[in-house]
Amino acid sequence: MRAYRFQLRCRPSGERVLGRYAGMARQVWNRALSEQRARHARGEKYASYVDMAKWLTAWRNAPETSWLAECPIHTQQQVLKRLDETYKRFFEKRGGFPKFKKFGDEPGLRFPDPKQFELDQVNSRIRLPKLGWLRLRQSQPVAGELRNITVRREGTKWFASIQTRTTDVVQALDVPPTLGIDVGLTLFAARSDAGKIDPLEALKKQRRKLKHAQRAVSRKVKGSSNRKKAIVRLGNIHRRIARQRSDWLHKLTTQLANRHAVIAVEDLNIKNMTASAKGTAEAPGKNVAAKAGLNRGILDAAWGEFARQLTYKLEWRGGRVILVNPAYTSQECRLCHHVSAENRRVQEIFQCVACGHTENADVHAAKNILAAGYAVWERQRTASVLSTDACPRQGNHLRVGGVVRRPERASAGVAASVKQEPTEATVLV
Ligand SMILES: [Zn+2]
Repeated sequence: MRAYRFQLRCRPSGERVLGRYAGMARQVWNRALSEQRARHARGEKYASYVDMAKWLTAWRNAPETSWLAECPIHTQQQVLKRLDETYKRFFEKRGGFPKFKKFGDEPGLRFPDPKQFELDQVNSRIRLPKLGWLRLRQSQPVAGELRNITVRREGTKWFASIQTRTTDVVQALDVPPTLGIDVGLTLFAARSDAGKIDPLEALKKQRRKLKHAQRAVSRKVKGSSNRKKAIVRLGNIHRRIARQRSDWLHKLTTQLANRHAVIAVEDLNIKNMTASAKGTAEAPGKNVAAKAGLNRGILDAAWGEFARQLTYKLEWRGGRVILVNPAYTSQECRLCHHVSAENRRVQEIFQCVACGHTENADVHAAKNILAAGYAVWERQRTASVLSTDACPRQGNHLRVGGVVRRPERASAGVAASVKQEPTEATVLV
């Protein structure tokens, strides 16, 4: 399954109809929820989706609520399905109790049946039941067989999510990693091929606007309509930042996935655990906390999203991400394998106290990550060859990032990751 998300280019008349349908979806959710709560109060048991669908038909036929019948019934049935799922998650203690929906927080309008809609890619538009043709800001071609479309309001804009299914089977490539990526605070990430990925500059400007808008909200009188307006503006900036970041990340990960089949990345869950308030455990610096403070939360979210996108994009192409333990990747010399915090006296430069090797610290760490990823790949390959009872081809020396090393003489960073058993959690296959 694959999802595409495009903004709708609606005429005001189209927006009004969508707004009405969204309001109806909200009504259906709230009515069904209050009916369920009333049943519970009377000591009756939970009504299943099938029962709720019968209520819906009754509401659409009753004169006082017949306006609900204006909207296609499938989208309203989907709302009840979502409510049913929310209840089930609550019963299984996996989620909270369903809440009433407010204006602007409507359940999406989902059109579940591909027979009912049409996508015209030549003219970038979709046809939805009762709504007719709606134009899309289609930024990329849609591949695969259409499954469903969900239309949702975000702030003042409307978006369509198109889900498709592709049936092509992608052969898994059994190739070693060709790129290592180190995520950092000053740089967004450094690459083992000496490339540096700067954080999106536009986000800095947006952050200033964000601060401004936040201050504007806090200065307004609570409950005043000026405060409400300021909150709307703040929400719009938040959503714009999210869109820009997502767009930038998508371009970055697509570019990486097009050029490399297997990429080694630090396991961010481990990295975040070892990060202390003074920066990261392996790179304590004077201003790290101050520099990190504002950006930390934003960056954490971006790195997580980066790893997620990279993983699925590589998998579509038959490749994968190898996660490596980040321990010592920034302290260990990649040439002589001497490990010392002294190697990082300055934040930006790696300088080995044993052999004198000097390199940009982030690129050096990325090269160590590539080497560690290679070790993980090789161990898994050996394990799979042994399990199929074939004869493994043994090479005495392996070439990793321009350095010849013996496979048995693993470096500390590699050794640290070798100690972990290859589990689902450490390696995404
Ligand atoms: Zn060294």
